[in-house]
Amino acid sequence: MAELRFDGRVVIVTGAGAGLGRAYALLFAARGASVVVNDLGSGKAGDGTSTKAADTVVQEIKAKGGIAAPDYNSVVDGEKIVQTALDNFGRIDVVVNNAGILRDRSFARISNNDWDIIHDVHLKGAFKVTQAAWPHFRKQNYGRVIVTSSNAGILGNFGQANYSAAKMGLVGLSNTLAIEGRKNNIHSNVIVPTAASRLTEGILPPDLFNELKPELIAPVVVWLCHESCEENGSIIDSSAGYAAKVQIFRGSGTLLRQKITDSFTPEDVRDKWSKVTDMTNPTPSGSIEESTFALMSQLDLLKSGA
Ligand code: NAD
Repeated sequence: MAELRFDGRVVIVTGAGAGLGRAYALLFAARGASVVVNDLGSGKAGDGTSTKAADTVVQEIKAKGGIAAPDYNSVVDGEKIVQTALDNFGRIDVVVNNAGILRDRSFARISNNDWDIIHDVHLKGAFKVTQAAWPHFRKQNYGRVIVTSSNAGILGNFGQANYSAAKMGLVGLSNTLAIEGRKNNIHSNVIVPTAASRLTEGILPPDLFNELKPELIAPVVVWLCHESCEENGSIIDSSAGYAAKVQIFRGSGTLLRQKITDSFTPEDVRDKWSKVTDMTNPTPSGSIEESTFALMSQLDLLKSGA
Protein backbone atom coordinates (compact mmCIF):
# COMPACT_ATOMS: atom_id res chain seq x y z
CA MET A 1 0.00 0.00 0.00
CA ALA A 2 1.19 3.51 -0.83
CA GLU A 3 2.60 5.57 2.02
CA LEU A 4 0.29 8.28 3.33
CA ARG A 5 1.97 11.52 2.26
CA PHE A 6 1.34 15.20 2.95
CA ASP A 7 3.60 16.73 0.28
CA GLY A 8 2.37 20.21 -0.59
CA ARG A 9 0.05 20.26 2.46
CA VAL A 10 0.48 22.84 5.19
CA VAL A 11 -0.24 21.77 8.76
CA ILE A 12 -0.51 23.88 11.91
CA VAL A 13 0.10 22.02 15.15
CA THR A 14 -0.55 24.18 18.21
CA GLY A 15 1.48 23.52 21.34
CA ALA A 16 3.94 21.61 19.17
CA GLY A 17 7.01 22.51 21.20
CA ALA A 18 6.62 19.53 23.53
CA GLY A 19 4.72 16.35 24.34
CA LEU A 20 2.00 15.23 21.94
CA GLY A 21 2.20 18.27 19.65
CA ARG A 22 5.90 17.71 19.07
CA ALA A 23 5.28 14.06 18.13
CA TYR A 24 2.54 15.11 15.70
CA ALA A 25 4.71 17.82 14.12
CA LEU A 26 7.64 15.44 13.61
CA LEU A 27 5.47 12.78 11.97
CA PHE A 28 3.63 15.25 9.70
CA ALA A 29 7.00 16.63 8.59
CA ALA A 30 8.39 13.14 8.00
CA ARG A 31 5.43 12.57 5.68
CA GLY A 32 6.22 15.63 3.61
CA ALA A 33 4.01 18.32 5.20
CA SER A 34 5.17 21.87 5.74
CA VAL A 35 4.55 22.33 9.45
CA VAL A 36 3.88 25.45 11.49
CA VAL A 37 5.26 24.57 14.91
CA ASN A 38 3.24 26.81 17.18
CA ASP A 39 4.16 27.08 20.83
CA LEU A 40 3.88 29.90 23.32
CA GLY A 41 6.54 28.22 25.45
CA SER A 42 4.60 28.67 28.66
CA GLY A 43 4.83 26.69 31.89
CA LYS A 44 2.33 23.93 32.44
CA ALA A 45 -0.03 26.28 34.28
CA GLY A 46 0.14 28.85 31.48
CA ASP A 47 2.80 31.05 33.07
CA GLY A 48 5.56 32.75 31.07
CA THR A 49 6.59 32.56 27.41
CA SER A 50 9.62 31.31 25.49
CA THR A 51 10.61 30.84 21.86
CA LYS A 52 12.78 27.85 22.74
CA ALA A 53 10.13 25.12 22.59
CA ALA A 54 9.00 25.92 19.03
CA ASP A 55 12.55 26.63 17.83
CA THR A 56 13.86 23.29 19.13
CA VAL A 57 11.21 21.29 17.27
CA VAL A 58 11.70 23.30 14.07
CA GLN A 59 15.42 22.52 14.28
CA GLU A 60 14.66 18.82 14.83
CA ILE A 61 12.43 18.76 11.74
CA LYS A 62 14.92 20.64 9.59
CA ALA A 63 17.78 18.40 10.76
CA LYS A 64 15.84 15.46 9.34
CA GLY A 65 15.30 17.25 6.02
CA GLY A 66 11.75 18.36 6.77
CA ILE A 67 10.00 21.71 6.28
CA ALA A 68 8.88 23.76 9.27
CA ALA A 69 8.42 27.29 10.55
CA PRO A 70 8.11 28.39 14.18
CA ASP A 71 5.23 30.40 15.59
CA TYR A 72 5.29 31.79 19.13
CA ASN A 73 1.77 33.21 19.43
CA SER A 74 -0.82 32.14 21.93
CA VAL A 75 -3.64 30.16 20.39
CA VAL A 76 -6.04 32.90 21.48
CA ASP A 77 -4.42 34.91 18.66
CA GLY A 78 -5.36 32.25 16.14
CA GLU A 79 -5.34 34.60 13.15
CA LYS A 80 -1.63 35.31 13.73
CA ILE A 81 -0.82 31.59 13.66
CA VAL A 82 -2.72 31.09 10.40
CA GLN A 83 -0.92 34.16 9.04
CA THR A 84 2.40 32.45 9.85
CA ALA A 85 1.28 29.51 7.70
CA LEU A 86 0.27 31.81 4.85
CA ASP A 87 3.43 33.94 5.06
CA ASN A 88 5.76 30.91 5.07
CA PHE A 89 3.94 28.39 2.93
CA GLY A 90 1.09 30.20 1.13
CA ARG A 91 -1.79 27.99 2.30
CA ILE A 92 -3.31 26.05 5.17
CA ASP A 93 -4.75 22.52 4.98
CA VAL A 94 -4.77 21.04 8.47
CA VAL A 95 -5.22 22.48 11.96
CA VAL A 96 -4.35 20.30 14.93
CA ASN A 97 -5.63 22.08 18.05
CA ASN A 98 -3.39 20.61 20.71
CA ALA A 99 -2.03 23.40 22.95
CA GLY A 100 -2.96 22.94 26.56
CA ILE A 101 -2.32 23.79 30.18
CA LEU A 102 -3.69 22.70 33.56
CA ARG A 103 -5.00 24.60 36.58
CA ASP A 104 -6.22 21.67 38.65
CA ARG A 105 -8.21 22.59 41.79
CA SER A 106 -11.18 21.00 43.50
CA PHE A 107 -14.37 22.75 42.42
CA ALA A 108 -14.70 24.60 45.74
CA ARG A 109 -11.28 26.22 45.18
CA ILE A 110 -11.41 27.18 41.50
CA SER A 111 -10.91 30.92 40.99
CA ASN A 112 -12.43 32.86 38.11
CA ASN A 113 -8.92 33.16 36.69
CA ASP A 114 -8.38 29.37 36.83
CA TRP A 115 -11.64 28.94 34.96
CA ASP A 116 -10.98 31.65 32.37
CA ILE A 117 -7.41 30.74 31.44
CA ILE A 118 -8.31 27.08 30.91
CA HIS A 119 -11.24 28.03 28.68
CA ASP A 120 -9.10 30.59 26.83
CA VAL A 121 -6.28 28.18 25.96
CA HIS A 122 -8.29 25.04 25.25
CA LEU A 123 -11.69 26.10 23.97
CA LYS A 124 -11.30 29.67 22.75
CA GLY A 125 -7.85 28.86 21.36
CA ALA A 126 -9.25 26.04 19.23
CA PHE A 127 -12.08 28.32 18.13
CA LYS A 128 -9.73 31.16 17.14
CA VAL A 129 -7.20 29.09 15.20
CA THR A 130 -9.89 27.11 13.40
CA GLN A 131 -11.95 30.23 12.73
CA ALA A 132 -8.97 31.86 10.99
CA ALA A 133 -8.33 28.74 8.87
CA TRP A 134 -12.00 28.14 8.00
CA PRO A 135 -12.40 30.58 5.08
CA HIS A 136 -9.29 29.08 3.44
CA PHE A 137 -10.66 25.56 3.91
CA ARG A 138 -13.99 26.55 2.36
CA LYS A 139 -12.38 28.33 -0.56
CA GLN A 140 -10.14 25.37 -1.44
CA ASN A 141 -12.89 22.84 -0.65
CA TYR A 142 -10.59 20.97 1.66
CA GLY A 143 -9.57 20.99 5.30
CA ARG A 144 -8.88 18.78 8.27
CA VAL A 145 -9.37 19.78 11.91
CA ILE A 146 -8.40 17.94 15.07
CA VAL A 147 -9.46 19.10 18.51
CA THR A 148 -7.97 17.57 21.63
CA SER A 149 -10.33 16.43 24.35
CA SER A 150 -9.63 14.27 27.37
CA ASN A 151 -11.17 11.46 29.36
CA ALA A 152 -11.33 14.06 32.11
CA GLY A 153 -13.89 15.87 29.94
CA ILE A 154 -15.82 12.88 28.75
CA LEU A 155 -15.91 11.11 32.11
CA GLY A 156 -15.17 13.95 34.59
CA ASN A 157 -12.21 13.88 36.96
CA PHE A 158 -11.70 15.03 40.53
CA GLY A 159 -10.01 18.44 40.64
CA GLN A 160 -10.52 19.23 36.96
CA ALA A 161 -13.92 20.92 36.69
CA ASN A 162 -12.50 23.80 34.61
CA TYR A 163 -10.50 21.49 32.33
CA SER A 164 -13.33 18.94 32.03
CA ALA A 165 -15.80 21.62 30.99
CA ALA A 166 -13.46 23.04 28.34
CA LYS A 167 -12.56 19.57 27.04
CA MET A 168 -16.21 18.58 26.66
CA GLY A 169 -16.87 21.95 25.01
CA LEU A 170 -14.32 20.97 22.39
CA VAL A 171 -16.36 17.85 21.58
CA GLY A 172 -19.38 20.04 20.88
CA LEU A 173 -17.25 22.38 18.77
CA SER A 174 -15.87 19.52 16.68
CA ASN A 175 -19.26 17.87 16.23
CA THR A 176 -20.71 21.08 14.79
CA LEU A 177 -17.64 21.80 12.63
CA ALA A 178 -18.07 18.27 11.20
CA ILE A 179 -21.67 19.03 10.24
CA GLU A 180 -21.00 22.51 8.83
CA GLY A 181 -17.78 21.50 7.07
CA ARG A 182 -18.98 18.29 5.41
CA LYS A 183 -20.24 19.93 2.20
CA ASN A 184 -16.84 21.57 1.69
CA ASN A 185 -14.81 18.41 2.37
CA ILE A 186 -13.76 19.79 5.75
CA HIS A 187 -13.57 17.07 8.39
CA SER A 188 -13.27 17.55 12.13
CA ASN A 189 -12.52 14.86 14.69
CA VAL A 190 -11.66 14.69 18.38
CA ILE A 191 -8.60 12.94 19.73
CA VAL A 192 -8.69 11.76 23.34
CA PRO A 193 -5.06 11.00 24.15
CA THR A 194 -3.33 9.53 27.16
CA ALA A 195 0.41 10.07 27.01
CA ALA A 196 3.51 10.77 29.00
CA SER A 197 4.16 14.52 29.08
CA ARG A 198 4.79 17.21 31.65
CA LEU A 199 1.01 17.41 32.12
CA THR A 200 0.78 13.78 33.26
CA GLU A 201 4.16 13.41 35.01
CA GLY A 202 3.50 12.66 38.68
CA ILE A 203 -0.15 11.87 37.91
CA LEU A 204 0.21 8.66 35.92
CA PRO A 205 1.94 5.79 37.78
CA PRO A 206 5.65 5.69 36.70
CA ASP A 207 5.41 2.22 35.08
CA LEU A 208 2.48 3.32 32.95
CA PHE A 209 4.06 6.74 32.25
CA ASN A 210 7.09 5.10 30.65
CA GLU A 211 4.91 3.09 28.27
CA LEU A 212 2.75 5.97 27.05
CA LYS A 213 4.95 7.65 24.49
CA PRO A 214 3.32 10.50 22.54
CA GLU A 215 4.77 8.92 19.36
CA LEU A 216 2.29 6.08 19.84
CA ILE A 217 -0.65 8.45 19.29
CA ALA A 218 0.81 10.51 16.43
CA PRO A 219 0.01 7.96 13.66
CA VAL A 220 -3.68 8.09 14.63
CA VAL A 221 -3.80 11.88 14.39
CA VAL A 222 -1.86 11.90 11.14
CA TRP A 223 -4.21 9.35 9.58
CA LEU A 224 -7.28 11.35 10.67
CA CYS A 225 -5.81 14.39 8.89
CA HIS A 226 -5.03 12.65 5.61
CA GLU A 227 -7.05 13.56 2.52
CA SER A 228 -8.03 9.91 2.04
CA CYS A 229 -9.52 9.61 5.56
CA GLU A 230 -13.31 9.86 5.46
CA GLU A 231 -13.78 9.93 9.24
CA ASN A 232 -15.72 13.03 10.30
CA GLY A 233 -17.43 14.01 13.55
CA SER A 234 -15.88 11.20 15.57
CA ILE A 235 -14.19 10.93 18.95
CA ILE A 236 -11.13 8.69 18.94
CA ASP A 237 -9.57 7.54 22.19
CA SER A 238 -5.92 6.60 21.72
CA SER A 239 -2.94 5.61 23.79
CA ALA A 240 0.06 3.25 23.73
CA GLY A 241 -0.65 2.03 20.21
CA TYR A 242 -4.38 1.49 20.80
CA ALA A 243 -7.28 3.44 19.32
CA ALA A 244 -11.05 3.16 19.65
CA LYS A 245 -14.06 5.21 18.65
CA VAL A 246 -16.07 6.64 21.55
CA GLN A 247 -19.80 7.27 21.27
CA ILE A 248 -22.64 8.44 23.48
CA PHE A 249 -25.47 5.93 23.82
CA ARG A 250 -29.07 6.32 24.97
CA GLY A 251 -31.21 3.70 26.60
CA SER A 252 -34.56 2.69 25.14
CA GLY A 253 -36.32 4.78 27.83
CA THR A 254 -40.00 4.62 28.68
CA LEU A 255 -43.13 6.68 28.30
CA LEU A 256 -44.05 8.42 31.55
CA ARG A 257 -47.74 8.75 30.61
CA GLN A 258 -50.19 6.64 28.61
CA LYS A 259 -52.00 9.14 26.39
CA ILE A 260 -51.24 12.56 24.93
CA THR A 261 -53.97 14.05 27.16
CA ASP A 262 -52.53 12.53 30.38
CA SER A 263 -50.36 14.43 32.80
CA PHE A 264 -47.85 12.77 35.08
CA THR A 265 -46.35 13.41 38.50
CA PRO A 266 -42.91 13.22 40.12
CA GLU A 267 -44.13 9.97 41.72
CA ASP A 268 -44.80 8.50 38.27
CA VAL A 269 -41.22 9.40 37.34
CA ARG A 270 -39.94 7.79 40.55
CA ASP A 271 -41.93 4.62 39.90
CA LYS A 272 -40.60 4.32 36.35
CA TRP A 273 -37.05 5.47 37.12
CA SER A 274 -35.53 2.01 36.66
CA LYS A 275 -36.94 1.97 33.12
CA VAL A 276 -35.76 5.54 32.40
CA THR A 277 -32.21 4.58 33.42
CA ASP A 278 -32.25 1.05 31.95
CA MET A 279 -29.28 0.66 29.59
CA THR A 280 -29.78 -2.98 28.61
CA ASN A 281 -30.80 -2.08 25.06
CA PRO A 282 -28.89 1.09 24.15
CA THR A 283 -28.57 2.72 20.75
CA PRO A 284 -25.81 5.13 19.72
CA SER A 285 -26.92 8.75 19.83
CA GLY A 286 -26.85 9.83 16.21
CA SER A 287 -27.65 13.14 14.58
CA ILE A 288 -30.08 15.85 15.71
CA GLU A 289 -32.37 14.61 12.92
CA GLU A 290 -32.36 11.09 14.37
CA SER A 291 -33.00 12.44 17.84
CA THR A 292 -35.95 14.52 16.57
CA PHE A 293 -37.30 11.47 14.71
CA ALA A 294 -37.13 9.42 17.95
CA LEU A 295 -39.06 12.17 19.74
CA MET A 296 -41.74 12.21 17.02
CA SER A 297 -42.07 8.41 17.33
CA GLN A 298 -42.72 8.73 21.07
CA LEU A 299 -45.31 11.43 20.41
CA ASP A 300 -47.02 9.16 17.87
CA LEU A 301 -47.16 6.41 20.48
CA LEU A 302 -48.76 8.79 22.97
CA LYS A 303 -51.26 10.01 20.39
CA SER A 304 -52.26 6.45 19.54
CA GLY A 305 -52.47 5.67 23.28
CA ALA A 306 -50.45 2.49 22.74
P1 NAD B 1 2.56 19.50 27.07
O1 NAD B 1 2.55 20.42 28.23
O2 NAD B 1 3.72 18.59 26.90
O3 NAD B 1 2.39 20.32 25.72
C1 NAD B 1 1.49 21.38 25.60
C2 NAD B 1 2.20 22.51 24.87
O4 NAD B 1 1.23 23.56 24.67
C3 NAD B 1 3.35 23.12 25.66
O5 NAD B 1 4.55 23.06 24.90
C4 NAD B 1 2.91 24.56 25.91
O6 NAD B 1 3.97 25.51 25.88
C5 NAD B 1 1.92 24.79 24.80
N1 NAD B 1 0.97 25.86 25.10
C6 NAD B 1 0.37 26.11 26.29
N2 NAD B 1 -0.43 27.17 26.20
C7 NAD B 1 -0.34 27.62 24.91
C8 NAD B 1 -0.94 28.69 24.19
N3 NAD B 1 -1.79 29.53 24.80
N4 NAD B 1 -0.63 28.84 22.89
C9 NAD B 1 0.25 28.01 22.27
N5 NAD B 1 0.86 26.98 22.92
C10 NAD B 1 0.56 26.79 24.21
O7 NAD B 1 1.20 18.65 27.19
P2 NAD B 1 0.60 17.40 26.37
O8 NAD B 1 0.32 16.34 27.36
O9 NAD B 1 1.41 17.10 25.18
O10 NAD B 1 -0.83 18.00 25.97
C11 NAD B 1 -1.24 18.26 24.65
C12 NAD B 1 -2.76 18.30 24.63
O11 NAD B 1 -3.29 17.00 24.95
C13 NAD B 1 -3.38 19.26 25.63
O12 NAD B 1 -4.49 19.89 25.04
C14 NAD B 1 -3.82 18.36 26.76
O13 NAD B 1 -4.88 18.91 27.50
C15 NAD B 1 -4.26 17.15 25.96
N6 NAD B 1 -4.32 15.91 26.72
C16 NAD B 1 -3.18 15.30 27.14
C17 NAD B 1 -3.28 14.11 27.81
C18 NAD B 1 -2.06 13.37 28.23
O14 NAD B 1 -2.21 12.23 28.74
N7 NAD B 1 -0.86 13.91 28.05
C19 NAD B 1 -4.52 13.55 28.13
C20 NAD B 1 -5.67 14.20 27.69
C21 NAD B 1 -5.54 15.38 26.99
